[in-house]
Amino acid sequence: MCLQFPPGCVAFSLMVRLVLFDIDGTLINSGGAGVRAFERAFAEEFSIPDGTQRLSFCGRTDSSLVREFFLMNGIEPSPHNFERFFRAYVALLKTQIRDCTGGLCQGVEGFLAELEAMAQPPAIGLLTGNIRQGAEIKLTHFGIWHRFAFGGFADDHEDRDQIAAVARERGSRQLDRPLEGREIVVIGDTPLDIRCGRAIGAKVLAVATGMISKPELALRKPDWVVDDLSQVSAGEVLGC
Ligand SMILES: [Mg+2]
Repeated sequence: MCLQFPPGCVAFSLMVRLVLFDIDGTLINSGGAGVRAFERAFAEEFSIPDGTQRLSFCGRTDSSLVREFFLMNGIEPSPHNFERFFRAYVALLKTQIRDCTGGLCQGVEGFLAELEAMAQPPAIGLLTGNIRQGAEIKLTHFGIWHRFAFGGFADDHEDRDQIAAVARERGSRQLDRPLEGREIVVIGDTPLDIRCGRAIGAKVLAVATGMISKPELALRKPDWVVDDLSQVSAGEVLGC
């Protein structure tokens, strides 16, 4: 079904050619493994217990969370301290994820399979607040890391809107041509995902598989909002 144009006027160049997925609450639920790894890294590396108590993780980038933690606790946000934190975090995440109770979010496997099986499949990438290594650890654990050719990560920028610009750029490189915003769909579970999709002019599919309810997501006016990815077909989202 053509969502943006009258029937018969779908131009190939304006079809969605790039799909960017958020990770936590969108592709996977890590059962709190990520937050636990943060908490233990704060405790073990900086001797501050309960360091995650006053942080709101929803849709945030790893680097912005660490900066907030440093500022809250009088720790210098120096490159050296960021490096100390992330070295500890990566090691702890590997152990935490091993015993986690999470899994793929509802509908993810089917939606990815549908995208991959298309006659002209879009480029599929990540647009996440995770650092790259964290994303790799989480998605490898759940068996889907290899399905994403590239991504924008918290290593690229602290601001999610800027990460979106990086992901768009990498997607354009992957397809060997510049992409218009309306050729991109961003899929995410928080208002910050919706905002960063809009920042690059992309369409946005919001999923209520994370911590934010469907009505709350709908208030931010994404192009689609669904309970989970089993409720929408990839063909409909891509406009074909
Ligand atoms: Mg998320």
